[in-house]
Amino acid sequence: MGGTKRTARIDFPGGKLLMPADTPYDREILFEYVRHSARSRGCAALALEDQNWSVKRGGAAVGHCESCGARCSGLIYELGIDQLCARCARLVSAGRLKRGIFGSRRPPHSKKIAV
Ligand SMILES: [Zn+2]
Repeated sequence: MGGTKRTARIDFPGGKLLMPADTPYDREILFEYVRHSARSRGCAALALEDQNWSVKRGGAAVGHCESCGARCSGLIYELGIDQLCARCARLVSAGRLKRGIFGSRRPPHSKKIAV
């Protein structure tokens, strides 16, 4: 293989950190660290390839993940206009879920269709 090493940058109040982002394991560690930073410091930013994530505590404003509809009561992962749960954020970052298609779609359990 021998490609160039990919690096991600985490910014949080009081510091920043460069971490490898090559393997799925690297990304696992990376997201763990982002989660930890956002939890303990209130927010964190993650620059991963062309994605600029902003992670913050949900607090009183509980939102819904725009992909799966789960309640984001803990941390909210923002990428552009999308607000995602931790699980979907990882999928999007790994290219396994398309971004930017969620828009204002309602969470699945809120669209009950009368027959
Ligand atoms: Zn989700």
